[in-house]
Amino acid sequence: MKSFVHVTQPQRVEFGWGSLERLPELVDALGLKRVLVLSTQEQRGLGERVQSLLGARAVGLFSEAVMHVPVEVVDRALVLANKVQADACVAVGGGSTLGLGKGMALYSSLRLVAVPTTYAGSEMTPLYGLTQGGEKQTGRDWRVLPLSVLYDPELSQTLPHAMTMASALNAMAHAAEALYGENASPVHQLMAQEGLRAMGQALTVLEHDLEDSQGRSDALYGAWLCGAVLGQVQMGLHHKLCHSLGGWFDLPHAELHALLLPYSLAYNSPMIEPALRRMQQALGCDDVPAYFYALRRRLGLPESLAQLGMRELNAPVLAEKLMAAPYPNPRALQADGLIALLEDAFAGRKPTQTKMVLSC
Ligand code: NAD
Repeated sequence: MKSFVHVTQPQRVEFGWGSLERLPELVDALGLKRVLVLSTQEQRGLGERVQSLLGARAVGLFSEAVMHVPVEVVDRALVLANKVQADACVAVGGGSTLGLGKGMALYSSLRLVAVPTTYAGSEMTPLYGLTQGGEKQTGRDWRVLPLSVLYDPELSQTLPHAMTMASALNAMAHAAEALYGENASPVHQLMAQEGLRAMGQALTVLEHDLEDSQGRSDALYGAWLCGAVLGQVQMGLHHKLCHSLGGWFDLPHAELHALLLPYSLAYNSPMIEPALRRMQQALGCDDVPAYFYALRRRLGLPESLAQLGMRELNAPVLAEKLMAAPYPNPRALQADGLIALLEDAFAGRKPTQTKMVLSC
């Protein structure tokens, strides 16, 4: 057994179909008295449902959460929180709504409770991202970690097909990279492997029936584990690629993860054999990059960077930019490898840097 450090997060997680009904009890147990509910405009109806469930504990609803967490939106939400003398926020939604709650927690003493409705996993991490003047800045701060997370799979049932599939692959990417993360403990590896297994299993059901309650439960359970390892294990090339390309070309977050995962795993393949063996066990396949390539196509997700909205590709320039800010990755970043990866992803070709077996 190699040496490791494992830090346990100071956070309560409750999971269960219909568990939203227990939110008032949870808020009371945490000693919160004046809660501001957060949602997007699209999920305002759910925000109102939560507000009415909380009764007098809810002092307002701010339904202006948007992608990339602009600081102006955080500021507006903080003005409202101040006006209604809120002592906490309940963020109901996906990573964008969670991101707003995190931004607010970072700049105030407001406490945060999360009710996630996608599989992005932000509720389990001390990571935040804020956009100012078109630049997204990210950071890590324990103040933004939600005190408590309530996972109710029923709330994920309204997530449309494309978003469900992309969000599930977004979660699987966290677990895949955690399996070879430099600081992954044996417990992280167990969580990541189980997260992949549960999500892989859920997708075989949800791809045919989005309303299958067992499938929705398995997927949200998997998302919890995948999010937990995202928050604790150092991510590598895949997350760096998604973060960089997403920011440079304004590409959709979850779909970009789904698209790039086969390519980043293929790039790292020569250096991550033990992690690949765990992924094979979790997913029941022989060739992991090929599995994700075939899965993404079967689920009907965008198949190339071009299809995702990137108009042209200057791979040598992008490879240079990616190599300019070094970070831990199992395989060193090399220009020729990155160029091949980017060109394959732009065209939607099978990854060329690993032996492909499209049998699983
Ligand atoms: P999102 O939160 O942007 O949601 C996309 C849309 O789907 C929104 O309109 C939302 O209201 C809607 N939606 C969400 N759940 C729904 C449901 N159950 N039914 C119907 N509609 C629903 O999408 P996301 O992929 O969850 O989050 C992406 C953002 O989260 C990105 O900005 C990403 O950077 C961030 N993120 C952060 C972390 C972190 O640890 N800080 C982790 C993962 C993602």
